[in-house]
Amino acid sequence: MASYRRDQAVRAAVEQGLLSPSEPVVALLDTAGIRASAAALVSAFAAVTDAPVLHAFAVKACPLVPVLRLLYDCGLGVEVASPGEMALAHAAGVPPSRTVLDSPAKTAAELRQALALGIAVNADNLQEVARLDALVASAPTASPLGLRVNPQVGAGTIEALSTATATSKFGVALRDEGAREAVVQAFLDRPWLRRLHTHTGSQGIPLALMAEGVAAAYALAEEINTKAGRQQIDTIDIGGGLPVNFVSDEETPTYAEYAELLATTAPGLLDGRYGLVTEFGRSLLAKHGTILARVEYTKTSGARPIAVTHAGVQVATRTVYDPPSWPLRVLAYDSEGRPRTGEETVQDVAGPACFAGDLLATALELPLLRPDDIVVVPDTGAYYFAHHYAYNSLVRPAVHGFTAEEDRVVFATVRRAQTLDEIVAEAGGDRVDALLP
Ligand SMILES: *Cc1c(COP(=O)(O)O)cnc(C)c1O
Repeated sequence: MASYRRDQAVRAAVEQGLLSPSEPVVALLDTAGIRASAAALVSAFAAVTDAPVLHAFAVKACPLVPVLRLLYDCGLGVEVASPGEMALAHAAGVPPSRTVLDSPAKTAAELRQALALGIAVNADNLQEVARLDALVASAPTASPLGLRVNPQVGAGTIEALSTATATSKFGVALRDEGAREAVVQAFLDRPWLRRLHTHTGSQGIPLALMAEGVAAAYALAEEINTKAGRQQIDTIDIGGGLPVNFVSDEETPTYAEYAELLATTAPGLLDGRYGLVTEFGRSLLAKHGTILARVEYTKTSGARPIAVTHAGVQVATRTVYDPPSWPLRVLAYDSEGRPRTGEETVQDVAGPACFAGDLLATALELPLLRPDDIVVVPDTGAYYFAHHYAYNSLVRPAVHGFTAEEDRVVFATVRRAQTLDEIVAEAGGDRVDALLP
């Protein structure tokens, strides 16, 4: 998010009472920024191919219905990986023809439902393909059907998010003994199996490694089509995974850079013979989300200043549990929402949860924070505030979209804050006596 737009939004959020002592943490989404990223994605691929491309937003990156609706309005579809995500996509009005179902653990019922609706399905493994055999034989389906392969090109900097390693749990591991032959045969035996899917990982994967994974899937498609003597594979799903820059406001790398790299790494992929599906998540939303949290108290401990804020593990789970992999910036604002200036002091920024490791950042150089100040955490639009962690029964914060119009900021609530009644209800509040004799 551009810093002037962020400053405007923070100030307006305070003035309009979205952030207050009784609602000490909120999340903001920059609607114009999301639209700009969606447009950049569409034009980056349009610049390198005339083939039809479905850009399916990976719902897990920001599972909020109005966000899915906005992206659909921008011409995107969705990639879903659970019954819950499928329900969100349906609620957002995204049609089956713009929906792709991936997931390593689809049940028979989920597959049956997807095929009945005509949703595209990528099987994860050959056992799942055998399940599809039975379903395809029992009823006609409009669903495009494919198979996920793991090109085993290697890991990026974050092991937990690298899906094309030698032993990844996803897809058919192509370099394993006999696997490639088995995949080719599976396609030759099934004329209805027409897509290949690959996704090399999320965050920390270099662009060249992503492109290498896609090139491997393309080479396999060419092999299958040659052996089949026809264009059996008609679509290649290249997954998502464009990394996001968490150290500044700069949006790098860009979709255009990646699309151009694909054009040089696998030119045949883009020559019009193959339709494409993409599944970007983080890169569409991360830069457009910001957490705002009030500083409740400040103290020193072992001479280190610490600001205790209302944003911690519940909204930034990955950062708190694995700070080296997921560093976030933290910016200081005063109680009225103006950027705090002045001498920088090394300090820690803590969250509200009751464990010592609940720290958003340590040894950060910032103007010294004071009670009632506001900390602003940019780049949290994907996999952060939309992924609430229920530790300490902390309330799920409200999410507001905003648009900046000249000197006015207009907010629209995407999701209101969770209420205490809802917390109690979700904690078995209607079954108080369930464990009594
Ligand atoms: C998570 C995931 C994505 C999205 O990854 P991003 O890094 O958010 O772009 C796409 N496809 C599959 C199969 C995934 O598991």
